Amino acid sequence: MLIPGSIPNKEPLIRVGLILPEDKLTSIVVSFSDSQFYEIETGNQLHPSCKNSDQLTINCDNGKLVIPELGIIDTSLKIIPSIPDENPSLILNGIPTGRGFHWEKQIRASYWGTMEFSIQDGKMMAVNELPLEAYLKCVATSEMSALCPPEFLKAQTIVARSWLLANIEQKHRHLGFDICNDDCCQRYQGMTHCTDASIQSANATFGEVIMFDDRICDARYSKSCGGISENFEHVWDGEPIPYLVSIVDEDENGVPFCSPEIVSETSLKTYIGDVDEKGKYYRWTYEATQDELVQSLQDKRNIYVEKIHDLIPLQKGRSGRITDLLITYEDNQRDDQKIKIHSEYEIRNIMSPSFLFSSAFTIEKTEDGNFLLHGKGWGHGVGLCQIGALGMALEGHTCSDILAAYFPPANLKKLYS
Ligand SMILES: [Zn+2]
Ligand SMILES: [Zn+2]
Repeated sequence: MLIPGSIPNKEPLIRVGLILPEDKLTSIVVSFSDSQFYEIETGNQLHPSCKNSDQLTINCDNGKLVIPELGIIDTSLKIIPSIPDENPSLILNGIPTGRGFHWEKQIRASYWGTMEFSIQDGKMMAVNELPLEAYLKCVATSEMSALCPPEFLKAQTIVARSWLLANIEQKHRHLGFDICNDDCCQRYQGMTHCTDASIQSANATFGEVIMFDDRICDARYSKSCGGISENFEHVWDGEPIPYLVSIVDEDENGVPFCSPEIVSETSLKTYIGDVDEKGKYYRWTYEATQDELVQSLQDKRNIYVEKIHDLIPLQKGRSGRITDLLITYEDNQRDDQKIKIHSEYEIRNIMSPSFLFSSAFTIEKTEDGNFLLHGKGWGHGVGLCQIGALGMALEGHTCSDILAAYFPPANLKKLYS
C-alpha cells in the first residue's frame, strides 16, 4: 500500500479495490488475454498456470473461495502474471460500478497487474495491484480525447498522480487497499478507457508531481469552477491549505478560461467526450420544485414537510458556492420549522435527485412556489478547473503555466524516472 506522507523514489505499486465486501458478490468469471501468462497462488502453493482453462469461475461459498475448474478451495488467492514483460491482462466479468447511483451496474473489463481475492466478513473481496503509472494510463485522462491539447493532458495527469501519492483521504485503508474503483475515489474500469493520448501523457510526465513545503500536494480538481475557484476549507471542513486557494480563472482580457467564449460547447464535446450534463458547465438554471424538495427531505433527512417556505443562503465561499443553506418549511403538523444544510456536497445532494451541478447558485422563487436556481460551475471548484485548464491550453499555455495558475505556490518535481 502507499504510505501516507512518504515520497517514493521509484515507481510504487497501487492497490485498487474492485470487489468490496458490501457488494456481496457470490461469483465472478475470470478470463485471460493469454492464460499461459498467469499463475494462481494459494497459501504457499503455486498452481503452475491457468493453462487448462481459458475461463475460470471464482465463487464465494460458505466463507471460502472456490474455483471449481481447478479444484481450489481457500480463503485467499492471487492471480499473478508470470511473464509481466508480455504485458498480459486479465478479464473480469461482473465488476460492480456506480455503487449507490442510478447508473449502478456490473461491467466486464481487462486489468493489468495482480488480482488478489480474499474473504472479508464472509464476503468476496478483490484487489488489483499494479504499477502506479499503468493505473494512471487507465484513469488520469482516460475519458478525454486524443485531440486534446497535450499540455492540458499532461497537467491533468500530474494532478492525478499527485493526488494519489499524497494519499490523504484513505477511505479504504481498513480493507487493505488505497482506493476503490468508483467515483468515491476515482472511476477505474481497468484498461477500458486506456487510450494513446492517456499513455502519451503518462509517459511524458512519468514520476512528476506538484509539491509544497516538501510534501506532495493533495491536488484536487473538478469539472468547472464557474469563473472563480474555491478555497479547500469551504468545501471540506478543515484547516486552509496554502495551495488550494481561490483564484480568478480568467485570461489577461478578463475572459474566464472555463467559459464558452474560450471552450465552446461543441469543442468541449470533442475534447472531453461524453458531457452528460450538456450545456451546464458554466452557467445553468435548474428548477427545484416543491414536490422534489419535499421528497428529497423525506428520503434523505427523514423530515416530513408540507410546504417549503424559503431557501436562504447563510454562508458562501469566494466562488459563490453556498456552504450553509437554511430551508424554512411547514411540517405535517402545520408548524413552521427550519433546517440548516451544511456543506456544498449535502446542498447539491438535497437540491436535486440527480445531484445538483454545483452549490454556487442564487435563488429565485417562482409564482407557483418552486425555486429557480441560477448557478455556475460544475463540481466542488477546488484546485484545478478541468475545463479552465483545457481553455488555458487552447490559448497556448503550457502544462507548467496551468499548474502554476491553479496551485499558485506549488512546485513541479520529478520523483522517479
Ligand atoms: Zn473509494
Ligand atoms: Zn474555471
